[in-house]
Amino acid sequence: MTKSLVALAVAGALLTLGSAPAGAQQQKFITIGTGGVTGVYYAVGGAICRLVNKDRKAHGIRCSVESTGGSVFNVNTIKAGELDLGMAQSDVQYLAYKGDGSFKSAGAYGDLRAVFSVHPEPFTVAARKEANIKSFADFKGKRFNVGNPGSGTRNSMEELLGAMGWTMSDFALASELKADEHGPALCDNKIDGFFYGVGHPSANIQDPTTTCGAQLISLTGPAVDKLVKEHPYYAYATIAGGLYSNNPQATQTYGVLATMVSSAKVPADVVYQVVKATFDNFDEFKKLHPAFAHLDPKKMVKDGLSAPLHEGALRYYKEKGLM
Ligand code: GLU
Repeated sequence: MTKSLVALAVAGALLTLGSAPAGAQQQKFITIGTGGVTGVYYAVGGAICRLVNKDRKAHGIRCSVESTGGSVFNVNTIKAGELDLGMAQSDVQYLAYKGDGSFKSAGAYGDLRAVFSVHPEPFTVAARKEANIKSFADFKGKRFNVGNPGSGTRNSMEELLGAMGWTMSDFALASELKADEHGPALCDNKIDGFFYGVGHPSANIQDPTTTCGAQLISLTGPAVDKLVKEHPYYAYATIAGGLYSNNPQATQTYGVLATMVSSAKVPADVVYQVVKATFDNFDEFKKLHPAFAHLDPKKMVKDGLSAPLHEGALRYYKEKGLM
C-alpha cells in the first residue's frame, strides 16, 4: 500500500514536471539568517518569509528562515554565499562594511548591502534576583554570560568591556552561552547575569523575568557615554518600565538598530520581492510581533544603514516615493 502510494506520488510529480507550461517560473529558494528562536530576529525572518511566500505563485520565490548564532555569523555566511539575506545589528553592519573593529582582520566587505532597518535593540542586562546587582560594575568577580561567538551581542559586549577597561578575566566566569540558553542558566543559578542586544518585548527576556524574577540592570556611566559619543551606530535607549514582570522601573541603557542585510551578488529581483512583500503588506507585518509596533517605513529605509542600499531595495523605494 505504502509503496504503491509512493509510486503514485512519484508518477504524479513527474507528470506535473512534464506538463509544466513552457516559460513557467522556476522555483527559487532563498534563506534568511536570523538568531536564536526566542529572540526577535527569528520572528522578523518568519514574518517576512510568510509575506514573501504568500505571493509565491507570482514570483516563484520560496523563502525560509534559519535560526543562527546571530549578526556576525549572518554577515559572514552571506559573504560566503550560503545565505541570501540576514539580520544584523547596525553596529555589525557598519563594522563589517568598513572592515573596522572585530572585522579589521577580515577587511572591508564592499559587497555588503543594506536592505532596511527594523526595531531598536537596546543592550539588555539581566541579573539574578539574589545576586544583589545594582549596576553593571557589580558584575566584577561574578559569573556573566558574554554571548556566543558569532552573535552581534558578543561583538558589542567586547566593545563595552574595552571602553570600561575590563577584560573577560574581570568575571569569575565569562560564559559563552547562546541567547536561547542564558535565561534558563540564570534561573538555574549557573550565571549571575547576561548581556543581550535584542528588541522588546521579547520572549527571551519575558521568560527569566517571569520564571525567577530576573532584574533588568541599567547600563549607564562614562564608558557608555564615550561609546555613544564616539560611534555613529550607538544611541541612548530606554526599556519601558512594566514591559516585563517584576520590573516596574524603566531601564536606561544604549543600543543599536536591527537591520536586514544582503550581498550585491544576490539578484536585484530577489531583494525587490522581499522588500515589496514587507512594505506592500506593512500593516500585516507590524502585527506579527509587538516589537514592530513603532516601525515607520520612512525611517526604515535610512536609519541605521551604513552599507549602500541593495539595488533591488532601492528600486522598490524609488517606485514608492520612499527615496
Ligand atoms: N542582536 C542579536 C545578535 O545579533 C540577536 C537578537 C535576536 O535574535 O533578536 O546577536
